[in-house]
Amino acid sequence: MLTAEQKNYLKDLFPGDEAIFSPASMLAYATDASRILAMPDAVVRPRSLEQLAKLMAWAQEHGVPIHPRGRGTGVVGASLAQGGGVVVSSLFMNEILEINSKDFLARAQPGVVNADLQAELAKHRLFYPPDPASAAISSIGGNVSTNAGGMRAVKYGVTRDYVLGLTAVLPGGKILHTGGRCHKDVIGLDLTSLFVGSAGALGVIAEITLKLIPLPPASASILAVYDNLEQALDAVDRGLSIGALPVTLELMSRNTLLALERAGEVPWPCGAQAALLVKLDGSEPAVEHDLEKMHAALAPAALLRTGRGREETDLWEVRRLINPAAYKIAPDKLSNDVAVPRSKLKEAIEGFEAIGREMRLNVLCFGHVGDGNVHANILHDASNVDERRRALKARRRILDTTLSLEGTISGEHGTGISKHGFIGLQLCEDQRRIMADIKAVFDPTGIMTPGKEPF
Ligand SMILES: Cc1cc2nc3c(=O)[nH]c(=O)nc-3n(C[C@H](O)[C@H](O)[C@H](O)COP(=O)(O)OP(=O)(O)OC[C@H]3O[C@@H](n4cnc5c(N)ncnc54)[C@H](O)[C@@H]3O)c2cc1C
Repeated sequence: MLTAEQKNYLKDLFPGDEAIFSPASMLAYATDASRILAMPDAVVRPRSLEQLAKLMAWAQEHGVPIHPRGRGTGVVGASLAQGGGVVVSSLFMNEILEINSKDFLARAQPGVVNADLQAELAKHRLFYPPDPASAAISSIGGNVSTNAGGMRAVKYGVTRDYVLGLTAVLPGGKILHTGGRCHKDVIGLDLTSLFVGSAGALGVIAEITLKLIPLPPASASILAVYDNLEQALDAVDRGLSIGALPVTLELMSRNTLLALERAGEVPWPCGAQAALLVKLDGSEPAVEHDLEKMHAALAPAALLRTGRGREETDLWEVRRLINPAAYKIAPDKLSNDVAVPRSKLKEAIEGFEAIGREMRLNVLCFGHVGDGNVHANILHDASNVDERRRALKARRRILDTTLSLEGTISGEHGTGISKHGFIGLQLCEDQRRIMADIKAVFDPTGIMTPGKEPF
């Protein structure tokens, strides 16, 4: 709880609509895509670095917890003020500060929406590849803080591979600049990378310098439909061996296809058992050459359909509808974004589906199989006590199965509130203590995101 004096301080520092205190107005900031509810004591929406520095000096002095927030699309509650505190929204820090086609970099404030940056860069024929499926609604600051992956990670890697430097405001108000404008830099320890994926635990990121590459001039995608999961997974192996990496290689299992079939029109015959969506890019001749090889690798399939231009966009639109389609099957979902070594994919997905059958629950397996990242979402009705109990048990079994296959309990979403309790399954005490010691260097009094540290 903030005192009246503390609220007055925030009102002075954040005039007008920059500070919010009423529960009704803060409701939008009290939840995220996890659907967990945690009401903050205040929400502030800074416009400048100076405001942020004063806020962070004040917060440390008063022991007020700070919870940075982008657009609240995180699915594990990482931006929520569990236990109270101040949510620091990047909503008003949303300017693209520089696009430099000679240095191949962009500088952006954290609140810039990923898709807006992509669209602006395309005008300069430049490309920032990381594209979480939430690109149209998530912020660059959130993407950096979660080290967001996405569809294109197979060929282009994840957010961490594109962050050259950043400016962060630390508890106490110190402004820290890390990295720079160089695409190569080996001086000192890599503080930039430490912030990437730190889920707001070290400080508030106020500016980011991103590496860019030339925009590939051409692309094409293939939808391949199979009579069973095994055929589809065999095709994944062949698709990754054509001598050129696809941009994207996504799998949709039977339950996922069924959910999409129930939600609307789909580009495959009803009853299909598994499908792959594969995207290729590059120069026109390179795409044509790779398409031919990829077609051969994906055969024999029950259906092979190639999309270019509008048709390609439509194919991917179906993939983006999985999340809303899932909620038409059941009101609640436990999301798991586990990752396993590629060689263990078949064992993992068959294991998750078997867990679903045993627990009498609909488990949707889909996702970025090209890099071993599988979404295994457990659909259920949380108001049914027995079903909720079975869903929680199924989640634990999915995580255990993943770890037994040398996998990770999160490939991209992080742990936030909902998965914090499982971190100990993967990280040992020594690892966690070293990580806590590192955090203490940045945040000695522990005001950043208490209880949601990603370790
Ligand atoms: C439909 C859907 C599809 C998705 N697909 C993907 C996907 O393909 N790949 C993927 O990786 N994720 C995906 N996500 C999850 C989510 O979109 C990502 O984690 C995204 O990066 C979060 O961005 P955000 O702006 O919403 O951040 P928020 O959810 O607001 O915050 C996420 C984390 O970042 C921290 N943070 C935010 N801004 C700052 C800042 N300025 N300084 C310090 N810390 C900060 C927060 O404290 C929190 O820990 C998906 C989510 C949805 C709803």
